[in-house]
Amino acid sequence: MSDTAKERKFIIVLGPPGSGKGTQCKRLAKLFKLPHLSTGDLLRNHVNSRTDVGQQVAELIKRGDLVPDDLMMQILHRRMLEPDSSFGAVLDGFPRSAKQARLLDRCLEELGNGEPTSMWVFRLIVPESVIIQRVAGRRICGSCGKTFSHNSGEGKSRLTCDADGSPLVVRDDDREGTVRSRVQIFEQQIPAIVAFYSERHKVIDINADCAVEEATELMLSKMCLSSN
Ligand code: AMP
Repeated sequence: MSDTAKERKFIIVLGPPGSGKGTQCKRLAKLFKLPHLSTGDLLRNHVNSRTDVGQQVAELIKRGDLVPDDLMMQILHRRMLEPDSSFGAVLDGFPRSAKQARLLDRCLEELGNGEPTSMWVFRLIVPESVIIQRVAGRRICGSCGKTFSHNSGEGKSRLTCDADGSPLVVRDDDREGTVRSRVQIFEQQIPAIVAFYSERHKVIDINADCAVEEATELMLSKMCLSSN
């Protein structure tokens, strides 16, 4: 891994719902002092703020369908123009199609202005039974959108947000039927995304059916080994 201070670093974490990509992205973002850009969060913010975009995408998200590629890229592009992204970002939930991967490459080239850029692409692998179990235990704060595991870890269920005390709710798209459909969409799209990055960068497979810390350690060790 290069330590060049000015080098832009982009870490892409691919994985189905419940694979722990949000958690891993947050951890990597903190470690590398990069912004954590979750396209799901960006979209949910639009929906909660009732923007025009939010109204366009609310129903798609509720059904677990993908938002159109060009619109999704526009939203992410706007976010990447903010100063905190000038040295890179950890991308959570993007790209979700080969077209998004192509659009992202173009966007990074344009924003990069010829600066050296490193990229790592991780694919988190978790069995479907674990996905369903993890998502069934997931709750979000009805007010700030922060994600929690329903089980507090002390044999008790967590009912309120530790940031603002608001009640926790189940995300509309975390209901079992919708999760299965989201996993199916992920499985349909992932071969083309992996093919795209396999040609350009190494795709690093991570067995994420393990403790959170273990998966992060594995990712960090692969980053150190890779020659990006
Ligand atoms: P996530 O929080 O990543 O699970 O995303 C929640 C939902 O937001 C997805 O099921 C899609 O409806 C939508 N979404 C998030 N990221 C993307 C993306 N890159 N492309 C299209 N739709 C997306």
